[in-house]
Amino acid sequence: MKLVLLGPPGAGKGTQAAMLVEKLGIPQISTGDMLRAAVKAQSPMGMKAKECMDSGALVPDEVVVGIVRERLQENDCQAGFILDGFPRTVPQADALKDVLAELGKDLDSVVSLEVDTDALVERLTGRRTCGACGKGFHLKFDPPGVDGKCRACGGELVHRDDDKEVTIRNRMDVYHQQTAPLEDYYRKEGLLQAIDGMQEIFAVQQQIVSILQAV
Ligand code: ADP
Ligand code: ADP
Ligand code: ZN
Repeated sequence: MKLVLLGPPGAGKGTQAAMLVEKLGIPQISTGDMLRAAVKAQSPMGMKAKECMDSGALVPDEVVVGIVRERLQENDCQAGFILDGFPRTVPQADALKDVLAELGKDLDSVVSLEVDTDALVERLTGRRTCGACGKGFHLKFDPPGVDGKCRACGGELVHRDDDKEVTIRNRMDVYHQQTAPLEDYYRKEGLLQAIDGMQEIFAVQQQIVSILQAV
């Protein structure tokens, strides 16, 4: 299964991708996670990306395309993959097509999660991520353990700097200007499947799974 999860910040892409990894045994490729790892490691690429990420802007296409190109060549992507947060611009989608063509592959499906702006803001302000294992939580909708720590590993939870209200607004604008055109892009290719992402986490998961079964 070669899948793209599309949707604005906070739509539930990471949450759904992590559940699909368990179910399908194929890797989640999150450009956001990979960029945050590069920032943490203070690699030259991470240092360049940091400024864009802090302001809620997109990192340049050639940087993310380079990361994804390398990642898709790894062995664990042979049986399929879940792209989470990539592509985010039309040039990225074009580049993805080229990279997959070089590898003799193409996408099976693009699932788009549709969520109202107010709900997105509430999801992002309440989002917490385990600093140790990376698992995602929500203070209200998917609460961590009673001690306020990760339910999976007991690690400390972090609130991303870009999940503060000012930056969230920027990221929403960026989504509408640069990423939303991909809905039409993939609709024209006959790949787009839109889902009501306002449903609760397990209902969304069930719907994605039934879409993938029909592909
Ligand atoms: P979210 O899960 O809230 O949508 P991500 O973790 O995917 O956010 O991304 C965090 C930040 O990393 C983005 O705001 C952007 O700066 C950068 N980023 C992630 N993926 C891409 C991409 N495909 N193209 C450009 N920038 C990206
Ligand atoms: P994205 O990767 O699209 O930015 P996430 O998967 O990180 O989004 O979800 C954003 C926040 O919303 C997280 O705190 C997550 O626990 C929560 N969340 C995800 N899906 C739902 C849902 N269907 N209903 C309520 N909260 C959700
Ligand atoms: Zn953890």
